[in-house]
Formats: sequence, C-alpha cells, structure tokens
Amino acid sequence: MSEISNQSVLSPVQDKSYLIDFFEPRAKEKLDQYIQSTTQYIKGFLSRKSVHSGKSPEYLRLLHQESMQLGYRSRSLTQALAELKELFLDNTVAYHHPSYLSHLNCPVVLPAVIGDIIASSVNTAIETWDQSTSGTLMEQEMIDWITSRIGLSDDADGVFTTGGSQSNLMALLLARDHYAFENYQLNIKESGINANAQNFKIFCSEKSHFSIQKSAALIGLGYESVVTVATDEHMCMDIKVLKSMLDQSIQAGDIPIAVVATLGTTDYGSFDPLNSIAELANEYGLWLHVDGAYGGCFALTETHKRYFKGIEHINSMTIDFHKSFFQPVCSSVLLINDKEHFRYISHHADYLNPLENKNEDMPDLIEKSIQTTRRFDALKLWMTLRVIGEEKMISYLEDIYDLTLETYEKAKNDQELEFIHEPTLTTLVFRYLTPNVSDETIHERVNKYIKNVLYESGQVSIASTRHEGRFYLKFTLLDPNLSSNHLLSVLDIIKEKGQEYQLKN
Ligand SMILES: *Cc1c(COP(=O)(O)O)cnc(C)c1O
Repeated sequence: MSEISNQSVLSPVQDKSYLIDFFEPRAKEKLDQYIQSTTQYIKGFLSRKSVHSGKSPEYLRLLHQESMQLGYRSRSLTQALAELKELFLDNTVAYHHPSYLSHLNCPVVLPAVIGDIIASSVNTAIETWDQSTSGTLMEQEMIDWITSRIGLSDDADGVFTTGGSQSNLMALLLARDHYAFENYQLNIKESGINANAQNFKIFCSEKSHFSIQKSAALIGLGYESVVTVATDEHMCMDIKVLKSMLDQSIQAGDIPIAVVATLGTTDYGSFDPLNSIAELANEYGLWLHVDGAYGGCFALTETHKRYFKGIEHINSMTIDFHKSFFQPVCSSVLLINDKEHFRYISHHADYLNPLENKNEDMPDLIEKSIQTTRRFDALKLWMTLRVIGEEKMISYLEDIYDLTLETYEKAKNDQELEFIHEPTLTTLVFRYLTPNVSDETIHERVNKYIKNVLYESGQVSIASTRHEGRFYLKFTLLDPNLSSNHLLSVLDIIKEKGQEYQLKN
C-alpha cells in the first residue's frame, strides 16, 4: 500500500487527504486514488440485487439522522464513501435494474458518464466564448447535429437546458414574445406584457405534460391560458377538435398564440398528428412548438420517422437526451427553426458579453439561454456519439420500441390483463382484472395493492396513472438489454399479487 493511501485511512486530518481542491499540490496524485476507490463503490451499486432497499421512510430518516450526527468534521474519502454507501448507495433507486420499469429514467451509457466527469473536473461554464472557447464549438456541433438530423432548416439553432420543463418554458416565452412583436410591435422583453396578453391562449392535448401549464403560469399567462384538446382513441390530439376549439376561442374574443404538439406523451408514448397541426398553425398564425422530451430522439429512427412529417414547419422543439438517449441528467435541448427568435431572450451585459464585442467567430452562447453560468452538458452527448456512434445509439432506440411491442403482442390476450392501447413508443399501460369482478372500486383497490406491495418489496418498481378516471399500472421501458420474457415474468408476478389480494380479502 502506498504511503499516501495508508495514511489517508489512518490519520486523515494530519495527512490533509480531505483536501480535494484541484489547487492543492498533491491533487493530481490523489485523483487516481480517489477515482479508484470511488469506482469500487459505483461497481457495488451497479451489481446490487434489488431495485431499491425497500427500507421504510422511518428507517431511512433514522439512518440520515445518525449520519448527520457525525457532523461536518473532515474525514477521509474512504470514510465518507462508506457512509454514503450505507445511507444512499445501498438504498436508493437503481434505474439500470431490469425490474425498474416506472418512470422516464434511462440507464446511462459509460462514455456519457466519462464526459460528465471531465465536464465537472474542467468545470467549464459554457456561457461566453472567453470562458469556454472550443467548448462553445462542441456544444454548437451537437446542436447542429440534432437540428440537421431531424430535418430543421439551415437557420435552425438551439441550446442545452436543464430539462424538458425548461425547454418548454423557453419555447413558450419565445412564442408569447413573438406573437406580441408580430401583431402589436410590442417588445415584451423591454416593456412587459400588455392587456391583450390576458386573452392569449396556448393549445395542447389533454395528454400533454404538466410543464405546459407551469410554463404558462411562469410567463404570466396563467394556467387558464392553456386550452386542452381532446385526444382520439390512440391518445393523439384530435385535429377536428383542435380546429373547432380554435374557432370557438376566437369567437369568444380570445387570442390563440401557440399550439404544442406532443411527440411521445409521457404516459402513452403517443404522437400528435404533427403534419395536420402544422397546417392549422399556419392557417391561424400560431407558434408551433413540439414537445419531444420523450419521443424527440425517435426522429432518428426508421421506425418512427413518419411521426415527424411536417417538422420543417415547426417553430421550436424540446428534446430530452436524459429521457431516451441514455444520458445522465441533465441533458436536454431547446431547438428553434429560425435562430433570429433567440433575440427575445438575449441580453448584453457590460461585464460579460457587451454588444460592442459581438463577433460571429467567437459566439457567446449565453445569448440563447435564460441561464448564465451553465454546465457543459453537451460534452456527454459528444462523448457518446464519438465512442458509441450514431448508428448504435439509434439501434438502441429501435430495440426498446421492439421490446415494448413484442411484450404487448405476447400479453395482450391474457384474460387477467387489460391493456389500453397498442404502444407506439416504449410504455405499456394496463391493469390487472380480477376474474368475474365488474366493480370498478375493487379493480382500483387491487391494482393499488399490486403497485404498493411490489414497491415495498424493493424487487420491482412500476408506475401508475389514471385513464378515464380509472387506475392503471404502467411500464416505461428504456433498457435495450431487457427481454420480453423478463417482462412477462414481471407480469406473472403482478398477476400473482392480484390473486393474493383476493385471497386476503
Ligand atoms: C418528462 C417530460 C417533460 C419534462 O421534462 P424534464 O426533463 O423532466 O423537465 C416534458 N414533456 C414531456 C412530454 C415529458 O415526458
């Protein structure tokens, strides 16, 4: 054992091994040692047998209290890692686990993790050219890659954000300001919203993500400015209903400013009819935003390309690489089809990006963002594309879709299960049907029981949602390594638990 590592365990304080600042003289030596001990713990986490420990909230609270009592005196990294393992790594939810089937949390690819380590170590703030130099070019390269691959115009542009919620917020902000500028020559950025904004309306399907409502509130239009349009039997926005609601809205004196097409709804993975929505957006002079937080990456696949017909007509689009491109959180982009529209949020600060320094060859990405200091999240994607390559990444997307469809085909005729739709993306929404029972309250109780006992066991994690007032279970499938046989075995466990409920009650 080297002198350093020996001392670091025995006498951490004298050894000053707690110093991890990169400006500490021995930091470079420490780096190897730190990374090595850390990877041991990560490997331990990755080989864990359960989705989560199943320990009660009370137990976890006690554990946390005990660890807090140890206080904030310095200790060796090894000691801190051991504490972290007991408190967090042994308990927390493992998204890479084959039976983690609940939310839109994907397993992550290794090159992206390496990219994240480098991004944090270098600590680039990707806001102005003078702070990030070639990092600026690499983020721009990733933006240009995705805009051209999905078929946006040559004038398209984009920026990395913290997630779909922020991307949607920024899109609706641009939509609002663009409408006011085009129709009233009003510069909202300068003078704030005017009286007309009281009547601004944003249209989206009733299956769209709640961040549309939240964004409307944050940009001063309020929840009530969001008009939700009914969906058809495939959970896709009903275009006839959209048209009649637009007409009604105008007749009532309201001002439709934008429509959001969701490509990949959170619960059902359904795709709104983009091409028809684009025609209406054009006819009614609306900003067309695509929320592709979940389904956006599927534009790259042969299987789903057709859902993106009309993409050249959109104004803005959200894509989350941390939902379905196997990237660690955060990795999301807001894309716009006409880069001029970023002027609605750009700002020039004397100390950071004064207008007189503006230079096309040395762009300041801050002009496209509502953030100032911003992480170099694009590096993860850059590493992923360099190491794994585009083709392989796209095949993972096709794999998870095939897996979902295959599982559905094998299970759809099961008398004890009721599926509500044929999947178009990677979610399955279903419930357990107790034989010979028609009482809805019993179905609800049984399915809640199934979800809870599975979660408490720590062995399987599934999600749930409501559809037409009824309680359903949900699989979100994002792991290309899963097999339909594994999923059928989870469905068997679900049926066993359903039968168990009957016996107990
Ligand atoms: C998850 C999701 C969002 C929000 O994205 P975050 O990255 O979680 O902020 C927005 N829209 C849709 C359709 C989503 O599924």
